[in-house]
Amino acid sequence: MHHVLCTRSNLGNDVRCPVCGQGFLVFWYRLSRDEQDALRQPIARALRAQHAVNPAAAVGGAHPAEDFTVPHWTAAPELVAAA
Ligand SMILES: [Zn+2]
Repeated sequence: MHHVLCTRSNLGNDVRCPVCGQGFLVFWYRLSRDEQDALRQPIARALRAQHAVNPAAAVGGAHPAEDFTVPHWTAAPELVAAA
């Protein structure tokens, strides 16, 4: 199963947080285009969840300053099935 590493970035971004718009680089260069597209939603869900546990944070502050991984349990069901 894929664990993808995400890191905050203000320079470039593969994914933007749907809540605050913070950009993230995702280290998914070994994945196919289809796999990357399939991961966008679970990553967005994970970012949203970070706001849910830290609702009072300033814009961008809900997210870890350090790199973090989006674990398999956030993956789309079709990816889990394919694993
Ligand atoms: Zn956010």
